[in-house]
Amino acid sequence: MSVDDTGYDAVVVGAGFAGLYMLYRLRQAGFRTRVFEAGSGVGGTWYWNRYPGARCDVESMEYSYSFCDELQQEWEWTERYAGQPEILRYVNHVADRFDLRRDITFDTRVVRATFDEDASRWQVETDTGLVVDAAFVIMATGCLSSANLPEFDGRDDFQGETYHTGRWPHEGVDFAGKRVGIIGTGSSAIQAIPIIAAEAGHLTVFQRTPNYSIPARNAPIDPDYVREIKAEYSAFRARNYRMQAGFGSKIPHNDAPASSDDPASRESNYAVRWERGGFGYLSAYNDLLRDRDANETAAEFVRQRIRGIVDDPDIAERLCPDNVIGCKRPCLDTGYFETYNRANVELVDARDAPIERITPNGVVAGGREYVLDCIVFATGFDAMTGAVLGVDFRGRDGMTLADKWHAGPRTYLGLGTVGFPNLFLITGPGSPSVLTNMIVSIEQHAEWISDCLEYLRAEGLDSIEATPEAEDAWVEHVNLVAGLTLYPTCNSWYLGKNIPGKPQVFMPLVGFPPYAEKCATAAANGYEGFDLA
Ligand code: FAD
Ligand code: NAP
Repeated sequence: MSVDDTGYDAVVVGAGFAGLYMLYRLRQAGFRTRVFEAGSGVGGTWYWNRYPGARCDVESMEYSYSFCDELQQEWEWTERYAGQPEILRYVNHVADRFDLRRDITFDTRVVRATFDEDASRWQVETDTGLVVDAAFVIMATGCLSSANLPEFDGRDDFQGETYHTGRWPHEGVDFAGKRVGIIGTGSSAIQAIPIIAAEAGHLTVFQRTPNYSIPARNAPIDPDYVREIKAEYSAFRARNYRMQAGFGSKIPHNDAPASSDDPASRESNYAVRWERGGFGYLSAYNDLLRDRDANETAAEFVRQRIRGIVDDPDIAERLCPDNVIGCKRPCLDTGYFETYNRANVELVDARDAPIERITPNGVVAGGREYVLDCIVFATGFDAMTGAVLGVDFRGRDGMTLADKWHAGPRTYLGLGTVGFPNLFLITGPGSPSVLTNMIVSIEQHAEWISDCLEYLRAEGLDSIEATPEAEDAWVEHVNLVAGLTLYPTCNSWYLGKNIPGKPQVFMPLVGFPPYAEKCATAAANGYEGFDLA
């Protein structure tokens, strides 16, 4: 590795999908760029989350880069939803194909960044003792990369093995014959549970909130479908770009409200979508995320399916969620509810048996000790802000970002924040990010940022910073849009409710196309809402 401390045009933090594409764009535009990555390889999410069953929930033909037609034509996915090893192979292929590694420093965490107001440049410090100077810092640190390991009493006393799904050992884990406990029933747990259950001697699932899950119906990818998409890949991508969540243009979207159908027609609409599998379930009607009565029809259909799948009526009832469907990111599964019919699987429901503590032997919940050989923490992430605040940012007048965001993140367009000039966030809070196919949002942001840097260079400008008025208006807009939906109605990580003490603010912006248009308009108007100097 050679790091030139005489200065960079840009430091990019993170080498997942976002950091890699950012590097590609900046290099193409001729900017001297250095990427720092805490892990030993590229891939971000797909480098860290190696738990059994990890796979994407946006279809493979869409969960991939669109920026290079040769790349999208030559890569062959094998399944409808690619598994983690395949996505990691793809990201490595991209890094090699575009010779990206030479500008990436691995095993290096950025710990602090200080803005020098006189020079209008950032001093970036790493945990390996490097200090580099850069005009711009671009955070490609991921919305779901800061693992949440709850502070259960006695957590560190456990004598057996412990794992977090987001920090899975590269060599894999042998659960054969073991007594395994898994804490959490979010997307990660719902993917891992059926596979761990098939291998373990006994699996105890500690559930705090039951979750809706739709069958993924994963299968080998249909070669005819691949041919059809590849024959017009860029037009397909363009259609997806105009979708609310940046994907799913092939999914039949119903533009009518749930009340437009009688109960029998609704039932058959839901049944067709359940059989097809995937996120298309929530496109059955146009008001499922806006109207509680409409939502309840879709939610009740899933509960009925759970009751139909799970043999024991008491366990089935405990697995039935009572919140709004889609309010948390919906899960896609392969045999999740069926797993509770296995004799070696036990459900511990926090509603009457909350986790009290962890002992050297296992987990105590509802007054009973569950003796375990391993505990899997499928407890999610300090989402959207965790990794950004993991860097000690010092902006104007020494202000810290942690102080600035003490009541929740504040940004303009999710891209910049007042008081921190020349700092960009890829898929930052206030942008559609986690409510979209994230690769679409990542590409849109990386392109906007590299265009912006080219503009500044062409105009002989050194610095860009959001204006307080633009930021205030944007924060209000994000809240207003969320308030028109049912999203803020449950204990989701979108709201920060999974992390004790985290300010509760709905962080992502609902709706990709108007957002992308707003970003394009701001740029076309000379970066409206930003002060350029
Ligand atoms: P990441 O992939 O999270 O990469 C960020 C990188 O930054 C990490 O490698 C991290 O080590 C590094 N980093 C962080 N802080 C520092 C620091 N201070 N110094 C140095 N390096 C640092 N999204 C979808 O749209 N569809 C899906 O199907 C989907 N499936 C998912 C499945 C799982 C299991 C998870 C956890 C997330 C999933 N997501 C999905 C979201 C996923 O995170 C994004 O799709 C995408 O991979 C994010 O890419 P990224 O580069 O922005 O961030
Ligand atoms: P998550 O959705 O936040 O789920 C974490 C689980 O742990 C929840 O069931 C949560 O319960 C539980 N939990 C957290 N703290 C707890 C505590 N102190 N005590 C008891 N239970 C606790 O995290 P995730 O499953 O890792 O998924 C995060 C996101 O990553 C997803 O929403 C999705 O965006 C992405 N992802 C996608 C896929 C995919 O299918 N492609 C797979 C995995 C992840 P509560 O619900 O009560 O908080």
